[in-house]
Amino acid sequence: MTMARRWPVAILGATGAVGQTFIRQLAGHPWFEIAELAASDRSAGKPYAEASRWLEGALPTELASRVVVRCDPAEVKSPLVFSALDSGVAGDVEQAFARAGRLVLSNAKNHRMDADVPLVIPEVNAPHLALLETQRRNRKWMGGIVTNANCAATAAAMAMAPLHEAFGVSRAMVFTMQAVSGAGYPGVPSLDILGNVIPYIGEEEPKVERELAKMLGTLSDGSVRNANLTVSAHTNRVPTENGHLVCLSLGFEKRASAEEAIEVMCQWRGHPEARGLPSAPELPLVVTREPDRPQTRRDVLAGRGMTVTAGRIRPDPLFDVKLVALGHNTIRGAAGGSVLNAELLASRGLLPPA
Ligand code: NAP
Repeated sequence: MTMARRWPVAILGATGAVGQTFIRQLAGHPWFEIAELAASDRSAGKPYAEASRWLEGALPTELASRVVVRCDPAEVKSPLVFSALDSGVAGDVEQAFARAGRLVLSNAKNHRMDADVPLVIPEVNAPHLALLETQRRNRKWMGGIVTNANCAATAAAMAMAPLHEAFGVSRAMVFTMQAVSGAGYPGVPSLDILGNVIPYIGEEEPKVERELAKMLGTLSDGSVRNANLTVSAHTNRVPTENGHLVCLSLGFEKRASAEEAIEVMCQWRGHPEARGLPSAPELPLVVTREPDRPQTRRDVLAGRGMTVTAGRIRPDPLFDVKLVALGHNTIRGAAGGSVLNAELLASRGLLPPA
């Protein structure tokens, strides 16, 4: 698809870890152009280079002097808004933008589980976008909120989707090893995490447990029926920089061997609507056969951070199959996932006029 003109987009929470990843993901994007950068009152009024502590690569020169504005729909004019806001404020701010007719692509937890808000990974559940219509009807607004999932749940969902389609996943034990960038910037103090593992991430386990059932659920009559799936999650913060490694033990409705699981995972290409979108990787899921992979440092940038890598797929003595999956938390699990959702909306003609 070629566009006559690029959509002007705004980034809310542009100064944070995910906001910065949005800037990198959107640099040179064929359909979207960064028009506005917004953050808290602490940053508003300052040039972006002064308001943010730029973490990775080169800050695009045209954005360095861009003045940061407040996250207020009266100040931010773009029809399409990417939200990388802290969850303490995201709930109300995102609603205010949707009420003002803007389409909000959110990374925050606040609205993910609302019954009329799509929680989307295009390769996994593109049809769930239909909830947007229900949302507009229910809430009587012309804009909308579309969310992407928790970063660890995203990696797990992409590894589980082909198995759920083929065998029906009914039980999942999920153990995570999550990178420090998942806590934002400045995030976890270095003296807490260097040489250490913290077996607790505030509010993370319930997110993983509930979001997977919604994402793997089915759409019918304008609502999502959650998958019949029970999830138990243990989430851990580990001293890696980027990438959440997730160990999964899965029980199926229809018995299947590890070899059958490997086969369906190798063949999976995801929902056809996601294919060919500008941010879609060639393969959403790569299965590695090496016994000691995936590894966070070696595999996190597969598919420019948009591919989930799975491996060690083997029989599980308690359930059916166990495996390891790895996803980039700020790219596939946040900004890259949001941009892919916006591309899916654009390809369906669902974006507001540019
Ligand atoms: P972060 O580094 O702490 O950034 C938070 C952003 O929110 C900053 O731009 C900050 O602006 C802004 N903000 C804070 N309070 C605000 C207020 N009162 N009004 C307006 N803006 C405000 O956090 P992050 O890691 O980027 O996460 C952003 C969101 O994405 C969170 O909801 C998080 O749960 C979610 N998420 C994160 C990841 C990840 O891997 N990091 C993955 C998936 C989802 P100032 O700089 O001006 O304070």
